[in-house]
Amino acid sequence: MNAEARGIEMEIAGGYTKKILNIDLTRRKSVVTETSDEFALKYIGGRGWGAKIVLDNLIKHPDLKPFDPENVVVIAPGPLSGLYLPASGKTSFISISPATGIYGDSSMGGLFGVELRLAGYDALTIRGRANLPSIIRIDDGDIEIASASGYVGKTCSDTERDVKEDLGDIETRVAVIGPAGENLVKFACVNTEWSRNAGRTGMGALFGSKNVKAIAVRGSQDIPVHDMDALSDASERAFSYLKSHELFEFWQQQGLMSVIDYMNNAGVMPTHNFNDAHFDGADTINGETMLKYKIGDTSCFCCPMACGNICLVKDGKYAGTVTEGPEYETACMFGSNVGVSDFPAILRANMLCDDLGIDTISTGNLIAVLIDGYEQGIVKRSDLDGMTLKWGDPDSVLAMVEKIAHRDGIGDIVAEGTHGLIKRFPDLKRLISHAKGLEMTAYDARIGVTMALGYGTSDIGAHHTRAWPLAKEIELGADWTLEERVDLVIYHQTVRPLFDCLGVCRLPWIELGLDEHIYAEMFAAATGVPFTLDDLFLRSNDIYDLTRTINVMLGVGRKDDYPSDRVFDTTIKTGPHAGESLSREYYEEALAMYYKKRGWDENGIPAGVAVTDDRG
Ligand code: SF4
Repeated sequence: MNAEARGIEMEIAGGYTKKILNIDLTRRKSVVTETSDEFALKYIGGRGWGAKIVLDNLIKHPDLKPFDPENVVVIAPGPLSGLYLPASGKTSFISISPATGIYGDSSMGGLFGVELRLAGYDALTIRGRANLPSIIRIDDGDIEIASASGYVGKTCSDTERDVKEDLGDIETRVAVIGPAGENLVKFACVNTEWSRNAGRTGMGALFGSKNVKAIAVRGSQDIPVHDMDALSDASERAFSYLKSHELFEFWQQQGLMSVIDYMNNAGVMPTHNFNDAHFDGADTINGETMLKYKIGDTSCFCCPMACGNICLVKDGKYAGTVTEGPEYETACMFGSNVGVSDFPAILRANMLCDDLGIDTISTGNLIAVLIDGYEQGIVKRSDLDGMTLKWGDPDSVLAMVEKIAHRDGIGDIVAEGTHGLIKRFPDLKRLISHAKGLEMTAYDARIGVTMALGYGTSDIGAHHTRAWPLAKEIELGADWTLEERVDLVIYHQTVRPLFDCLGVCRLPWIELGLDEHIYAEMFAAATGVPFTLDDLFLRSNDIYDLTRTINVMLGVGRKDDYPSDRVFDTTIKTGPHAGESLSREYYEEALAMYYKKRGWDENGIPAGVAVTDDRG
């Protein structure tokens, strides 16, 4: 029996609450809907449920634009979220993205999604628009939409603290937006617990467009589990594996900052706006340097890996800066990519972005584009409100972060993201690293077709959350076939989003090699549905077709499945890959093979999808 048939026939005996809380802000109403077992198992949860709800909404509103009240934001943990197993605190935010205009999602760790499950809900949908800044309060079955006027303009950390104080309950879990979200900055985040963010694709701007400043959740219910003994057994094995791993302590110490040296030595770390991929000052922004400022660890729900590094700057120009982070992406975007080798300044940028509620990747990426554009005479001083930009000048970078979040002067243009920046300065197009309008994360795609293909075919744009085949690319060099490369990208695009469906963090698998089969075991123990990993993969693959369908309905086609031209047209200047760029012909070959393997036609359209609306 295949997984499709099993999903229809099987009955769920745990894991899911099977309830979705739907809030309509315009009508100030909420309604709880029960999901069928078929729906639950077909779309798994988290990102899968969200994608299906977003697709159904788009069919109802085919002319939908991201900031329309009709756009739905889905917040969905997953069937493993909140259960006793490693790193089970993830929740996804899913919608049509204001940053790209197409399908978007982003996941956050912490405790917010877990609390939503304890309140009795597998997902929350938000539609409509409140007439005033509002806070949604969920206390099990009690739902209230209240005024948030007292929190308007406040930073994320202040808002969360004040909401908890006002509710008199420090255990309430709160998701908030900062000034950037209120100002509809297209790459604003939703933030929780000071530093955990649904960072990419502008979910914070969608909160702002709906006049939602915060959501406060409190739950007191149990999450049903089919076979607690089997779940505990699998969990204990997973915990033991992680804790006995030779890199476990190193990971706890450095978290994702450990990646800086690896990426720089491999020659793939974006430097000076992706012009280069090797930074001479890497030892000033790496994990060892971070340890000089580290004062503690933080962790998401039930995670022994505790990858969050709390850092404090005790003296100097940025004294008083305290932040959780940075991790690799942030250190690179506010370090090598803008030429800054001043670690306290990077910490300050991290703190500012978290407080203002703005994505560190898009922000750092676009500030580097501005610096590059200024150096090349495309952007003038008069365009920059009289500011001067140059590589390695942290103060102008920090000032630009504030301007973007507050939409002040030039910041108002950058706040529109890649699409807006190109509209105002068409010549910047050749300097921006992105795919589908989402700014590229911190991995140079010129060294291998797999990374470029991963960015180009990602359903949300240039983010490695869907595929990160770089390690294999570095390891194997020229020593593997194109077919093996394309297969790896598709495998990544299947396994990695599965974690966002299940509601768990993928880092135990990525960083410490936890066997992915154990997640199928946990799923079966929790739900009573004996899906194998292949069954789950089949569904994850179908969900990839589903998000592609959404994108095709929004005008996406082959023309959009490329990283920026600069990946093909420019060469890396220094480091182990000096002189390299990616062959466009090779990429075309890879893309054609990718479509064929996915069962999409030569324009990247999945079978059965009618293209009726070319919105470009
Ligand atoms: S590995 Fe890090 S991001 Fe993932 S759940 Fe653990 S603490 Fe959170």
